[in-house]
Amino acid sequence: MAADRLTDVMERYEAVIGLEIHTEITASRTKMFCGCPVAFGGEPNTRVCPVCLGMPGALPVPNEAAIEWTVLAGLATECDIALWSQFHRKQYFYPDMPKDYQISQYDLPFCSDGRVSVEVDGPGAAERLDRGHALESGLLTGDAEAYTTVIGITRIHLEEDTGKMVHVGGAEGRIAGADYSLVDFNRAGTPLMELVTEPDIRTPEEARRFAQKLRQIWLALGVSDCSMEEGSLRVDANVSIRPRGATGLGTKTEVKNMNSFKSLHDALAYEIVRQAEVLDAGGVIQQETRHWDVGAKRTSALRSKEEAHDYRYFPEPDMVPFQFTEEWIAALAGRLPELPDARKARFVAELGLPAQDAVVLTSDTALATYFEDAVAAAGAERAKAVANWVTGEFAAHLNAAGIGADASPVTPGALAEIVELVDGGTLSARQGREVFSAVIETGMAPSAIVEQRGMRQVSDSAAIEAVVDRVLAANPDEVARYRDGKTGLMGFFVGQVMKEMRGQANPGVVNDVLRARLG
Ligand code: ADP
Ligand code: ZN
Ligand code: MG
Repeated sequence: MAADRLTDVMERYEAVIGLEIHTEITASRTKMFCGCPVAFGGEPNTRVCPVCLGMPGALPVPNEAAIEWTVLAGLATECDIALWSQFHRKQYFYPDMPKDYQISQYDLPFCSDGRVSVEVDGPGAAERLDRGHALESGLLTGDAEAYTTVIGITRIHLEEDTGKMVHVGGAEGRIAGADYSLVDFNRAGTPLMELVTEPDIRTPEEARRFAQKLRQIWLALGVSDCSMEEGSLRVDANVSIRPRGATGLGTKTEVKNMNSFKSLHDALAYEIVRQAEVLDAGGVIQQETRHWDVGAKRTSALRSKEEAHDYRYFPEPDMVPFQFTEEWIAALAGRLPELPDARKARFVAELGLPAQDAVVLTSDTALATYFEDAVAAAGAERAKAVANWVTGEFAAHLNAAGIGADASPVTPGALAEIVELVDGGTLSARQGREVFSAVIETGMAPSAIVEQRGMRQVSDSAAIEAVVDRVLAANPDEVARYRDGKTGLMGFFVGQVMKEMRGQANPGVVNDVLRARLG
């Protein structure tokens, strides 16, 4: 999918996107309506009981902790919490549902009408071609390169997860062409939150950023491990397009099977271009569910909504409705931890960080915690210097190693030490980076590496003057040309001095001495 094709299409069409995000409440030790443990993997059908196997006569008992987690999730996304709520039965027939119905929620979800703000910057911001207009109208805030948009949350309801089908003999584990299928009920009955957004998202990048932001909120809450690979966070995307300037909604398709944030972005970009090509050719969009094939980088029709099931929802007769109190909700609100947006605001207000740094640091809970630990060790006055190292060198190292901030051999204390050495002038920036790499390679403390390698930045002007004089004496032609006005040669002299001093000279002092000597 060429990015320029998306840009071309989005000049003529506006995309309208709404997401449906399923999150397993992995923080719950037990399933939604029985005492079976919640865990990933394991021998098939070993974490099951008559309730989650749907045996006739087995009665569900609601998991209070899972309901509390759902209400916490709603509070964290500024939802209204229902005081009166209940579960419904959703009837459908598929082998992964042993009861032939799923206990879910219908018209009385626990949470509704919330919002999440999403920051978009960098190359991704360019996808929003109308942002100039939207900024003027107040729909977005920020500037053309970095803006904030608010995505409405329609609802968050609680339901039970299904079992897992394994299709044997078919391509890519899909049912088409499979010889036979197996079913594992270990996952059946796992507490599952379904969050539905308003159709407020306008670009694939906004969709990706929203999903990432939501994951960070869930991680800060501790409600789920949010693993897209293991399926504890699953994102389905509804998308339609309309001519720019139009206000009605086009026919949407629903895209499934995105196993990463990149896939979410790429699947939406593909689907927007595909829909534009259909419309441009005079065709109409079929309302249907489509499957993202990450290998082929395309979507294909899975099933048509025409054959949509009639779920025949009715109130779950085996459980009484829930009556919550304002006091209970307030007590839960008191349990909310600091969320990414609040943390971002605090980094700006208390540590004086530029907003951009605060956005990057709080986009990853583990990174934000790492940063705070390093600042605690280095001192608040070095917060900006620590932020530069964390968003620069450290983030690049995590990326290259494919690890999270809490798994790095460079502890917050070690990073703080490097920052202090560089900030205090003991090491040059280049030496600081060398020590950083050495910590990764050896796991040694920065001070020990500095000691072992005899690394000290030389700031003593007498020592530097001696070398400067040698360099100038050895390069009389360059000195003459410099004095004739070729001041660009300053870089050459600095380089020569640095080379002689094996990169250990303080560049500021070298520059000062050279300038004084050259007149
Ligand atoms: P359905 O009846 O197919 O389940 P819903 O109205 O419940 O559709 O919406 C499901 C999701 O699709 C929501 O996230 C919603 O914001 C989004 N959505 C609804 N209509 C459109 C549309 N025309 N284009 C894009 N997204 C849409
Ligand atoms: Zn069970
Ligand atoms: Mg719906």
